[in-house]
Order: sequence, then C-alpha cells, then structure tokens
Amino acid sequence: MTLAEVAPEPIDTPAAPETGGTLKVDLAAIEANWRTLSRRIPASECAAVVKANAYGLGLEPVAKRLAAAGCKTFFVADIAEARRLRPRVPEAAIYVLNGFSPGSGAAFLDLGARPVINSTTELAEWDAFVGQHNWHGGAALHVDTGMNRLGLPVDEAEALAPRVQTENHGITLLMSHLACAEIPGHPLNAAQIQLFKEIRLLFRGVPASLANSSGIFLGDAAHCDLARPGAALYGVNPTPGHPNPMQSVVELTARILQVRTLDFGATVGYGATWTAKRPSRLAVAAVGYADGLPRVLSGHDRPRGIAVIAGKLCPFVGRISMDLICIDITDLPEGAVHRGDQATFIGAGISVDDVATAAGTIGYELLTHLGARCHHIYSGA
Ligand SMILES: *Cc1c(COP(=O)(O)O)cnc(C)c1O
Repeated sequence: MTLAEVAPEPIDTPAAPETGGTLKVDLAAIEANWRTLSRRIPASECAAVVKANAYGLGLEPVAKRLAAAGCKTFFVADIAEARRLRPRVPEAAIYVLNGFSPGSGAAFLDLGARPVINSTTELAEWDAFVGQHNWHGGAALHVDTGMNRLGLPVDEAEALAPRVQTENHGITLLMSHLACAEIPGHPLNAAQIQLFKEIRLLFRGVPASLANSSGIFLGDAAHCDLARPGAALYGVNPTPGHPNPMQSVVELTARILQVRTLDFGATVGYGATWTAKRPSRLAVAAVGYADGLPRVLSGHDRPRGIAVIAGKLCPFVGRISMDLICIDITDLPEGAVHRGDQATFIGAGISVDDVATAAGTIGYELLTHLGARCHHIYSGA
C-alpha cells in the first residue's frame, strides 16, 4: 500500500477556533521512529504498542499509519482498545496485554485478538474457551523474569513447557518484560535477558519478545524475534542521559487571549504565589492543567515551566489554572506579542522529556494526559 492509498482518518476533534489549545501530532515522525527502531533490530520484527490511545496521541490515526508502513503486530492494554484498533488494522495481529478474564472469550473471538496470558489460571480458562469453540486464535504466554507484575512465575513456565510442545495451546508468542531497560547498567537487565534466554530454549519454535523501547538499545541479546516499542515511537527518549535518537512527534500550542501589564508588587493567579518585582507584562494563554500541562510546573517561588513566545523562552508565573496559564513576557520587546498569537509549550526546542522532567514525571505520563480538550492536527497523514 502506498501512502496515497491511505485515506485520511476522519478525526473527532473540536474545531481550531473553538479551543484554546492545539495538539499537533506528526504521523510522519511516528513512522520515521518506527523505521529507525526497525533498522536497529534488523533480524527481528518491530511491533507497535498503541495502548492508552497510542500514549494519548490517537489510536486510530497512529495505528493506521503504522500498519500502512508495514507494522504487522500491535499491542493494546484492554479489549476496548482492541475493538477500536481492529477496523484500522484488519490484517495485523493484536495482542491484549492485560490478558484473558472470565467472559472475555467472545470478544477475543469476535475481534480476532490474542490475549497475553499472564497466569496458569488464565491459560486454563483460555484453553477451555478455544477448546469449546474449536478456535485457534493464538495467544502470547507472558513469563515473569523479574518485573513481579504480571506473567507466569519461571517455575510454572518451565513446568508448562513440555505440554506446550505436545498439546496445542495455540501459543504464538513467548514474552517477558524488562523492569529497568532505560538504565543500561542495571544488573536486572542482564539477569532478565539470561533467564529469558533459558526459558526460550524450553519453548523451541515459539517466537519470543522481550524488548520495549529502551530494551532495543540494550544490544542484540535483548532483541529476540519481536520488539514491542511504545514510548520511543512517540518521541520519548529511550536512552535517557544520551542524545534522543527519536524524532519529536508532538507540539502543544495555545492561543494568547490577552497581553496585560502589571505594576511593581502586583500578584498573579490563585493563591497570589507570584509577585512582580518590576513593572511587568504577561501573556495569558488558553491552556491549563485540564489540557495536560502538569500543575506542579507552576513552581512556588521559582517557575518550573517555560513557553516559547515570539521565538523566546519565557517563564510561567503564578499557578497554572484549569484553563489558563500566565507567562512573563517582560523581557520581550514591547509590541512583540499580540492577542491571538500562539505560545508553544511542547515543541520549538522544548521536548516532552524536558517538560516531564521539570514536572517530576516521565514522558509517558505527560503524553497520556495531553490534549483531551484540544484541537488535534495530524500532520503527514
Ligand atoms: C507498555 C509496554 C511496552 C512498551 O513499553 P515502552 O517503554 O513504552 O516502549 C512493552 N511491553 C509491555 C508488556 C508493556 O506493558
């Protein structure tokens, strides 16, 4: 399929003039990131994790774009996400990370989706369901090698291995998940890689998957047959502390509703937390914590957040409100900023990771909260 054949996805988004904030998602950059990751694992398949609405960026347009680029395997968290995904990727394998639960069989059958089996109980329920329906849907078997979240304990997986070779459980993927992949020197990486290698030997012939985004950068031993990147597709740096090998994907901008002047000693916003130490000028922009800008970026005495206005970095002042944010533009030339101009909060040199770090969180959390109410623009669609 060529790009020209991919019809633009109709997107349910408020019209630009009717919202303050705009979230721009660069689908071409997401595709480029998927290709970059694919090239790093030349002997393996590169899947895409599109859970949580593709990390907040829009499940449908993102998945459609990646499927058109050649991505054949997708991971979501739950069945509702698989249901949204299926029409966009009719041919692809869809794995549901949160697994099989009683009563969910019909949905897996209906969608042709595959549960990630996270315990022997789930495996028994799944076996019973596929047996009853004489269906060979496929499922991933998740073995816990050190995360201690979901997955079969190693001893149970070992006990199961001979049966998987002889009985048809329909296991199409053996997987595990790294706990510390973004810290390359962490001893748990080597331990998990080694343990998973040993378990793979017991499940000969079943494709295996271990690496998330950062796992792809841990070297060949972590690559296995299939990698499962999420965050790196969306521009989050999978190698913290080193230059980001991924292209940036999102831009968050907001309209400036007013430019106002402040006398020396005037305070700004709820709680009057900021006091003008000189006659000042403020830009009031139409975006707030309800749009996903973390309120902790307000800071206390010193602002933690910045925006780019008229090409310059300008600090937030006072508390971030639900719908508004005030920015100090005193250092810009008089007349440089007008009502209706745009302020940039992510983009223009401010990365998702910069904002997340300033807010004391990670890019993952920031992305999944962004833009619920914003006008969305998908470029490169
Ligand atoms: C979310 C998730 C991923 C993707 O992780 P990233 O760090 O975003 O690349 C891969 N595997 C599992 C099991 C996950 O839950």
